[in-house]
Amino acid sequence: MTPTWVQLVYLLCAVCFILALKGLSGPRTARAGNLLGAAGAVVGCAVVFFYLDLEHVPQILGAVAVGSVAGLVGARRVQMTQMPQMVALFNGVGGGAAALVALLELEHMVEGAGWFDLAATAFTIVVGSVSFSGSVITFLKLQELMTSRPVVFPGLPVAFGGALVGSVGLSGVTVASPSMAVGIVLGLLGLLVGVLLVLPVGGADVPIVISLLNAFTGLTVAAGGYVLGNTLLLVAGTLVGASGTFLTKLMAAAMGRSVVNILFGALKGGSTLGAGEASDRPVRSAGPEDVAILLGYASKVIVVPGYGLAVAQAQHTLRELVDVLGARGTQVDYAIHPVAGRMPGHMNVLLAEAQVPYEQLKEMDDINGEFKQTDVVLVVGANDVVNPAAKTTPGAPIYGMPILNADEAQQVIFLKRSMRPGFAGIENELLFDPRTTLLFGDAKDSLGKLLSAVKSL
Ligand code: NDP
Repeated sequence: MTPTWVQLVYLLCAVCFILALKGLSGPRTARAGNLLGAAGAVVGCAVVFFYLDLEHVPQILGAVAVGSVAGLVGARRVQMTQMPQMVALFNGVGGGAAALVALLELEHMVEGAGWFDLAATAFTIVVGSVSFSGSVITFLKLQELMTSRPVVFPGLPVAFGGALVGSVGLSGVTVASPSMAVGIVLGLLGLLVGVLLVLPVGGADVPIVISLLNAFTGLTVAAGGYVLGNTLLLVAGTLVGASGTFLTKLMAAAMGRSVVNILFGALKGGSTLGAGEASDRPVRSAGPEDVAILLGYASKVIVVPGYGLAVAQAQHTLRELVDVLGARGTQVDYAIHPVAGRMPGHMNVLLAEAQVPYEQLKEMDDINGEFKQTDVVLVVGANDVVNPAAKTTPGAPIYGMPILNADEAQQVIFLKRSMRPGFAGIENELLFDPRTTLLFGDAKDSLGKLLSAVKSL
C-alpha cells in the first residue's frame, strides 16, 4: 500500500505534468513548462527511495548516473536539425524500459495473477518492444545510417500481418498460462512488428511515425503503471499517449495525409518520398544588390522560413535584415507553416532563439489571406511549404497539404543554394514563375550580403 504522503507527492507531480503540457503549448511559456515537467519527473523518481525498501540501490544509482550523463551530453551536443532523431531515441528507450520491467514482473506473476493484470503485462511487453525497435529504425533513417526512403520487399505485408497476429495470439497464451519463455518470444515478436511497421515509411513521414511511437510508449508506460500499481506512471503514460496521438493527427493533417496512408502508403506503391533531381530548366536569378532594391522599396514583405534557414543557422542575420527593413518603414511578418523544417514548431524555436518578437510570427491560417496584398515574399530555405503542386498536382507526394499562398504575391524571392528540390523530392513550379527571382547561395551568406546592400540603399 502506497503511503498517503507519497500519494500526495504523486498528485503534485501529476499536476506538474499537466501544467507542463499547458506551458509547452505556447512559445512564451514553453521553457517554464519544460522545467516544471522535468521537476515533476525528478521528484516522482526520487520519492521511491524514501518509502520503499529498495534492493540493489548502488546498481540503481549507477544506472541513473549513466542515463543522466548520456542524456545530458546527448542533449547538449545535438543540433537543432537532429532533434527528431534524438526524440526518437529517448522515446524508444522509454518503451524498451517499460517492456523490460513488464517482462521482469511476469516472473513474479506466474502464479495467482488476475487475467487483467496479465493482459496489461502482455500489452506492455508487445507495445513497448514495438516502440523500441520502431524508434531505432526511425533514428537510423533520420540519421542517414540507412536509406531514408521507404523499404518495401515482397512478402512484407504477410510478414507484418503474421508477426502482428502472432503477438496477439501469444498475448492470449500469456494470459492463459504465463511464463518467462513466452514473455521473451512475445517481446521478440514485438521487436519484429516495430521494424516491419517503420521500414516502409519514407523520410518525410518519419517524424510523424516518431510521434505515433511516442503515443505507443505513453500507452505502454500507462499499462506498466497499472501492472506495478504506480498511479504516477499511469497518469504520465496516459498524458504522453494522449498528447502523442493528438500531435500525430495534427502533423498528418498539416501534411494533408491520413495516418494510415503515411504508414502503409508505400505498400500500395505510392511512395511518400522522391529522391529529387536538380532541375536544369531556366530560372531568373539575381545578385544581392538587385534583390535588396526589391526588398528595400517594398511596403509589405512576408518572410517564409524553412528547413534551409535552420541548416544555414541564418536566423540571427535574418532578424537583423527584418529589423533594418522595419526601420525603413516596411511592414514585415514571418509566415509559419506548421510543418516547415523537420519537426513541429521548428521555425518558432529557431526564430525565438534569434529573439524575433512573437507578434511577428503569423500562423499559416492567419496570414494566408495577406499574400495577395504583399509586394515581396522572401522565401528563406523553404520549398515544399510554398509548392503550388500541393494544390494543383494530384498524385504529387504533397498533394492536399495546405501551403502558404506565396504564389499570390507580386514578387517572390527564393534564397537557396541550387535547383535541388525540397524534402518531398518534387519540382516547384513557383521557382520558374515570371514573378520569381532566385538568389543562389547559402542562406546565411546571402542574407549577410542582402543586409549590407539594404543598409547602403
Ligand atoms: P524543404 O525541405 O521543402 O526545402 C528546404 C530548402 O532549403 C531546399 O529548397 C534547399 O535547397 C534549401 N536549403 C537547404 N540548405 C540550405 C542552406 N544552407 N542555405 C539555403 N538554402 C538551403 O523545407 P520546408 O521547410 O519548405 O518543408 C519541410 C518539409 O519537411 C515538408 O515536406 C514537410 O512535409 C517535411 N516534414 C516536416 C516535418 C515537421 O514537423 N516540420 C516533419 C516531417 C516532414 P538547396 O538544397 O538548393 O539549398
